[in-house]
Amino acid sequence: MGTQRSGDNKMTTLDSISERETLEQELARTQEELDLINQKLEEKGDFGLGQGASTVYEWEMNLALRESAEAKIKSIQAALDRLDQGDYGLCEVCGQPIDPGRLEILPHTTLCVRCAQAGR
Ligand SMILES: [Zn+2]
Repeated sequence: MGTQRSGDNKMTTLDSISERETLEQELARTQEELDLINQKLEEKGDFGLGQGASTVYEWEMNLALRESAEAKIKSIQAALDRLDQGDYGLCEVCGQPIDPGRLEILPHTTLCVRCAQAGR
């Protein structure tokens, strides 16, 4: 719609520089998260000291968190690759452009809303 002014253009055209920034920030944040989780996992080691059940539970939870953080990092890196190749923002399945609003919320997504919902 209307005129585009520099400075605040969250318009339909993807600004690949700000997309990259968003992804890189997201990547850095997720990597920090992963470091933290890894630290917690390394600190562990005394399962035999009474509070075993809750610490085992916590450990397993951290393992699950680590897995999802690693998966997220991979998909962000894949999105950055796609940005390099110039097909960022296109759905991996149907090839249609992904709604920019969706990319704002999920910058590393590779599926449009329709395909994401169909995959559920
Ligand atoms: Zn699609």
